[in-house]
Amino acid sequence: MTSPNAELTAWIAEVRKQFPALDVQVNGKALVYLDSAASAQTPMPVIEAMDDYYRSKRSNIHRGVHFLSQEASEAYEAVRPQAASFLGASDPDEIVFVRGTTEGLNLLAYGLGERALQPGDEVVVSEMEHHANFVPWQRACHLTGATLRVIGMDDRGVLDLERAAEVIGPRTKVVALSHVSNALGTVNPVAEVARLAHEHGAVVVVDAAQSVPHMPVDVTELGCDALVFSGHKLFGPTGIGVLWARRELLEAMPPYQVGGGMIQEVTAEKTTWADLPMKFEAGTPAIAEVIGLGAAMKFVLDLGWENIQAAEHAVFAYAKEQLDALPFVKAIGSAPSQIGVYSFEIEGVPAYDLGTMLDQRGVAVRTGHHCAQPTMRRFGVDATTRASFAFYNTFEEVDALVAGLKRVHRLFG
Ligand code: PMP
Repeated sequence: MTSPNAELTAWIAEVRKQFPALDVQVNGKALVYLDSAASAQTPMPVIEAMDDYYRSKRSNIHRGVHFLSQEASEAYEAVRPQAASFLGASDPDEIVFVRGTTEGLNLLAYGLGERALQPGDEVVVSEMEHHANFVPWQRACHLTGATLRVIGMDDRGVLDLERAAEVIGPRTKVVALSHVSNALGTVNPVAEVARLAHEHGAVVVVDAAQSVPHMPVDVTELGCDALVFSGHKLFGPTGIGVLWARRELLEAMPPYQVGGGMIQEVTAEKTTWADLPMKFEAGTPAIAEVIGLGAAMKFVLDLGWENIQAAEHAVFAYAKEQLDALPFVKAIGSAPSQIGVYSFEIEGVPAYDLGTMLDQRGVAVRTGHHCAQPTMRRFGVDATTRASFAFYNTFEEVDALVAGLKRVHRLFG
């Protein structure tokens, strides 16, 4: 039986002081924020870094010789090597700032899919992908005559590796896989799938939106060719994300958007592209957000993965135990590798009603299909209720969720 641990409790209490939104009152109750998989909360250093840009560095970047522009450019560009090192990549030019995971995956599905696939080629995804890593590849296949193939999972939400070995073959050009499922919390064996894919010369794209907030993510260890994540799930701002891809891949791909800031030379006849990474950053980027993302990565690394994981794993294990013990709660997804996400349903209680009733008690969870309809279909449900956790969640918050669920069940029962 997991029980609240005094040392971890004290660490969490200290960390929470950095997150002003966690002190918000909801319906006269203390907020219990269990929706970090949708968007995590933002700590003071991130808010302050963005505030500092607007107060003292506000200017456009790259094209200005004046003081403010240089200050802003320096602050923006300093985040690129930081992001590379955060992902265990050695070349900062392999980092492209995008609007988020969705934009990064669309960029890849355009360059590696729409503009590269041919009839007979195959793209492999899993049944537990977020729509952001499913629909762009499906569309690329429809547009090119290539075929989308889907690897299934078992009743716990564990990826079917045997099936993966059958599906991935000489026709496979791209394997696109989430590192962690947002609907189930399953951690996928990306390195194993990458080995299979590389045996056949396929490119491996990883959606790391749900893994970067919970664990160190190293592109070399994963053995992938491209990886994407969003700032807002990593305690950073909205509207910013990171795309990392191997240099050869980025060099071979056409730009996704064209316009200012990404050209070498423009004449009436033709345009040549700027070198990496500018080739993929057309227009004025999200400057404050990049600076905020830099502060978020630093915040996480300063806290330390060991501390983060100790706190988070203890609270999550406690939550799982408490929730699994409720006879009226049916977990959707119970992979041994599960992290950060507990999806469930209560028979006879629509997820939407459940979410609304919990909200009345200050408990914020997410209900719906979680942009993962193939996953919902696999489990025979339209929607689930999802409680998702970050390192700032407490044992008491788990108790509040459990008390809320018991009350809802009593009312509906
Ligand atoms: N992939 C996964 C696994 C996600 O959880 C999400 C966000 N729910 C996305 C992609 C899309 O991220 P964004 O909305 O930040 O583009």
